[in-house]
Amino acid sequence: MATIFTKIANGEIPSYKCAENDEFYAFLDINPLVKGHTLCIPRREVDYIFDMEDDEIARFQVFAKKVAQAIKTAFPCVKVGEAVLGLEVPHAHIHLIPMQSEKDMLFSNPKKSFPAEEMQAAADAIYAEFKKL
Ligand code: 5GP
Repeated sequence: MATIFTKIANGEIPSYKCAENDEFYAFLDINPLVKGHTLCIPRREVDYIFDMEDDEIARFQVFAKKVAQAIKTAFPCVKVGEAVLGLEVPHAHIHLIPMQSEKDMLFSNPKKSFPAEEMQAAADAIYAEFKKL
């Protein structure tokens, strides 16, 4: 059975798309730590990121790098932080989080919620920057 993230990448479940290519897809986390919190996933289903082949994980990281560059332009921040947890959804994903301080990376923080228009505008801003890279 397909994972929820596969359904998102296939467009069967809606998401706020931030970037994509043939192999990878990026979208806003539905329960963000901060505005612009983005998830990158491989279209190929794999649960544990460190089970990915060397070539695939390298391409995945290069994709995440481009998404991070787009996020940093769209959401000026000190740095974009990267985290991998994967304890909730069994489909490898990289969290990219625009940080003003290390506190923005605390997954124990309460999750934020933004109106749909703000989520759409955030995703559109990231996607517009991604397309320039
Ligand atoms: P993790 O597996 O890394 O511990 O957490 C999974 C992350 O995916 C969480 O931050 C959660 O908010 C996000 N998430 C879970 N389900 C969905 C979903 O259906 N749509 C989106 N956009 N994000 C989700």
